[in-house]
Parts: sequence; C-alpha cells; structure tokens
Amino acid sequence: MKILVVEDELKTGDYLRKGLVEAGFVVDLARDGRDGLHEALSADYDLVLLDVMLPGLDGWGVLRALRAVGKKTPVLFLTARDEIDDRVRGLELGADDYLVKPFAFAELLARVRSLLRRGGQRAEGEFSDFLRVADLELDLRKHRAVRAGKRIDLTAKEFALLELLMRRRGEVLPRSLIAAQVWDMNFDSDTNVVEVAVRRLRAKIDDGFDRRLIRTRRGMGYVLDEADDE
Ligand code: CA
Repeated sequence: MKILVVEDELKTGDYLRKGLVEAGFVVDLARDGRDGLHEALSADYDLVLLDVMLPGLDGWGVLRALRAVGKKTPVLFLTARDEIDDRVRGLELGADDYLVKPFAFAELLARVRSLLRRGGQRAEGEFSDFLRVADLELDLRKHRAVRAGKRIDLTAKEFALLELLMRRRGEVLPRSLIAAQVWDMNFDSDTNVVEVAVRRLRAKIDDGFDRRLIRTRRGMGYVLDEADDE
C-alpha cells in the first residue's frame, strides 16, 4: 500500500513517514503543494495525507486540482486549524476524512486503515478487516496473520508482501511489481530481495502444511491461491 504525504513541516513530515513505513506502508514525501500535486498525479497512490497550509499551492488547491482531473485517490486532510468551516470546506471539495493537529499517531493510523479499507471495498466489494484465502487469514486492523488457527509472526515487509499477494490472489505478480509495491524500488535484475523475502514468507506460511499457497511461476513471478495443483 502506497501513501503520499504532503507536509511542509520537516519534523512532522519525517515523523509521519517513519511511522507509516514502520507500519508497513510505502511512503513518498512531498514538501510543498506543487510537488505534492505533481507526485499525486504521476503515480498511483492508495492514499494521500494532505496538509492544508502549504507553501506555493495549499491543500485545498491540491485537492481541487486532483478532483478536477478525475483523480479519486482518497485524501485525508491534516490541519492545525480546527474551525468547522475548514472541515466543511475540505469535505465539500471531496476530502475523505479530516484530522486536526496535533494528533496521536495511533489515531492517524486508524483513519488511514479505515480509508484504505473503504478504497478496497470500492475496488473489490470486501466489507471486512480481514483477507482470507483457504485457511490463511490476515487481520488488517491488528496486523496479524493466522493459518489454520496458528498465529504467524511476520515482519512489516512480510505482512505487506502477503497482503499484496492475498489481495490479488490467483494473479501471477511479477517480481518488478512486487518490488515497486512493497519496497518502492525499481527492480534491478541483480538484486534478489524479492526472491529472498518470498522464500522467507513461504517458509512461515506454508511449511508444515499439506497445501502450499504461495507458488513460483518460473520466469513470471509469484502467485498465491488455493488451487491444489502441482
Ligand atoms: Ca503546513
């Protein structure tokens, strides 16, 4: 899951990026409104965290420009001002939620997850905090993986990788796509970071079970599904 943070205050921006990365998200940071708008238009983000008071182009301007070209990326406004006018204005312009500074990071994370779930619902018709494939279950709220009732400990990256594979179950995902989505890097044919991570994830998810869920499609990538072939 990829998030764009548009925030001119250095400390706040760095704090948000660090926290979100630790929570398993891929995060880009823009320091002003024009950069933020450019980024939001040029890449596919799952969510934009948008500060209101920004140099150059303010948050309202960024949101208006995004919606004007039909970009529907969910937007969570961050602002120091808590006047009701601002709130109404943001929602009228098509913001999806609103958070007043200062806020607790846990609160931000809860809002972010809730917006991402809503986005997922629109895309997939899922109305749950859980992803399930066969006896494997991912609790997106608690960041927990369970297979056949057994809790599986995953790192943040492993969780993000598994979430991606489960959301796109049955689809063969090329390594380059996984690298871009989970590590935010362009895949370099010399690096085997994806391969190593998948191997580690597979050991945690599939070892000790009759049915393997994660499979390699040689020369193509990886797929997670419950088909019982091979
Ligand atoms: Ca600001």
